Amino acid sequence: MKPPKFDYHAPKTVDEALALLTRYDGDGKVLAGGQSLMPLLNFRLSRPAALVDLNRIPALAYIKEADGSVRFGAMTRQRTIEFSPVVAKRVPLLTEATRWVGHLPIRTRGTIGGSIAHADPSAEYPAVLTALDGEVVARGPKGERVLKPRDFFQTYLTTNLAADEILTEVRLPAMAASAGYAFEEFARRHGDFAIIGIATVIVCDAGVAREGARCTMARLATAGAGPVPVRLRAAEEILEREGLGDDAIARAAAKAQDLVRPDADIHASADYRRHLTGVLTGRAIKRAIAKAGR
Ligand code: FAD
Repeated sequence: MKPPKFDYHAPKTVDEALALLTRYDGDGKVLAGGQSLMPLLNFRLSRPAALVDLNRIPALAYIKEADGSVRFGAMTRQRTIEFSPVVAKRVPLLTEATRWVGHLPIRTRGTIGGSIAHADPSAEYPAVLTALDGEVVARGPKGERVLKPRDFFQTYLTTNLAADEILTEVRLPAMAASAGYAFEEFARRHGDFAIIGIATVIVCDAGVAREGARCTMARLATAGAGPVPVRLRAAEEILEREGLGDDAIARAAAKAQDLVRPDADIHASADYRRHLTGVLTGRAIKRAIAKAGR
């Protein structure tokens, strides 16, 4: 299928892009890497009057460190993130998660801003944003807003972004150097969206997760376990309260399974997704513990 007709604009600045979105009064759509939007247009599931292409705005592509966080311009490609030494050092969970995103050609075009604005609950980046409790910056005609993931993601493919706003930046807090981390995922084929994915960070009091070590911070978040990524706080609390022994890990995994309310679809039943949430949470915690302090 071919997309329906649309006007095409390639602004050079964010201000120009915002003016175009205002001009089309809710009927313009931003084009980033096009890896999700182009299929939607070709299947005629989306029929915008205009595309506002962000690919000619160099100011939207960067990775920089500021105030204990790593900041990503919305147009930073997933492939750039995959090979960034700054990301590998400061937010290695994101490096690991990126390897699960589609295939090489998709990551070469796909952007961090597009992945998060698209808000597919099975995508890896929204889960990482949720696990690390990062922020997104939205710019519109009235100025800038900074949003937490719980305020940003609303339901399947739906965020709090207004039609005349652009997601300009994603901020992820730098992880502790001694943090252990893992992104565990099950998909039918490598490169498919996750049936379930679990993003995990574990920090121990003595750095290394030796026998009896106390867990000072646990982070667990899902991909694919409901309409939005879910932070599994009650499961995290079990690890922070009871430590990192096998019993605590098993209890945290069981709690994770209890906390999620996934829907069934053609790929998997709700029960299977709940079961996978428990299994992958247990595996993710163990792998994160093994990395802590290394
Ligand atoms: P686009 O497709 O250009 O845009 C997506 C949506 O977000 C559009 O509605 C657009 O208007 C909006 N948007 C984009 N940028 C902004 C912005 N800055 N501000 C406001 N709105 C914006 N993704 C995964 O996470 N995991 C996978 O396993 C995976 N597998 C894939 C497999 C295939 C075969 C394909 C084709 C895609 C796959 N993807 C996967 C999707 C891919 O990661 C996309 O890159 C991503 O979902 C969208 O990013 P994009 O930059 O291509 O955005």
